[in-house]
Amino acid sequence: MSANTDFSKVEKDLVVSMEYNLTVDGEIVDSSTEDGPIEFIQGKGNIIPGLEKELYGMKIGDSKKVKVVAKEAYGEYDAEAVEEVPLEDFPKDIPLEEGVELAVENEEGEAMSAVIVEVGKDTVTLDFNHPLAGKDLDFEVTIASIRAATEEELKHGHIHDDECICDCEDGCDEEGCCCGK
Ligand code: ZN
Repeated sequence: MSANTDFSKVEKDLVVSMEYNLTVDGEIVDSSTEDGPIEFIQGKGNIIPGLEKELYGMKIGDSKKVKVVAKEAYGEYDAEAVEEVPLEDFPKDIPLEEGVELAVENEEGEAMSAVIVEVGKDTVTLDFNHPLAGKDLDFEVTIASIRAATEEELKHGHIHDDECICDCEDGCDEEGCCCGK
């Protein structure tokens, strides 16, 4: 295995810093102008696969428009992921308004988020789809910088920054992980 020493273009296992605009249905819904460029390890599935695969070979400063269809982004919209909940079972501390997002647990105890789509007389209709499910995503990306990943970052499959983005919520068995465990 030879280490990659060419940091001029996007290759697998390099840390890429990327500016982006995300447009959905003609409206910008997310942009790096607010939080700065995103940083990720190319080829580790840190970003949406449909976008990641289009980045290979791009050079620093290169811009590209990438359309990612729904099924390669957040999936198709699932009409069965919409549920009516009896009003009396609904937590009293959540405002009963359309568009309100709430965190709920499913039967397996997994955290999910839902959006109130309708408030009826006796029921509340919740939509468990990802807000971007069924949407085609139009990205406009610019490669800001590229660097080598550290050995530790490669082992963990994510970048180590000031802020830990490790998703090892229940404790991490990786020694030296940013989560400090
Ligand atoms: Zn880590």
